[in-house]
Amino acid sequence: MTDCLFCRIAAGDIPADIVARTDTVIAFRDIAPKAPVHVLVVPFAHVANVTEAAAQIPTVLAEMVQIAQRIADAETGGEFRLVFNTGPTAGQSVFHAHGHLLGGAELTWDDA
Ligand code: AMP
Repeated sequence: MTDCLFCRIAAGDIPADIVARTDTVIAFRDIAPKAPVHVLVVPFAHVANVTEAAAQIPTVLAEMVQIAQRIADAETGGEFRLVFNTGPTAGQSVFHAHGHLLGGAELTWDDA
């Protein structure tokens, strides 16, 4: 979708600090980090949120978790938080499914 920010980043039209990429998933650093490590894990397929991802691309959703673990293994000692804001009142502002991988510090509920 040309009007979707994360589709445009996935297509390479908008630059991002990419940390991992497969045929189906891309991971890049959040532009406004809430933790020392804050990476967005995003499917190439445009689905609106994690619930749609679970219904329509469940194997890709599983791969997103595996990629989050791989990034955490490299950057946070293997421990991480993975947050899927779902809907505006939950803080979702980009309506293309993405997990916020957070780590690298002792996290509290005030962190994202
Ligand atoms: P959410 O609010 O859960 O939809 O998350 C969207 C996230 O995208 C926010 O944490 C933003 O900081 C992040 N973001 C917005 N624009 C960019 C960008 N160009 N590159 C990287 N992250 C971005």
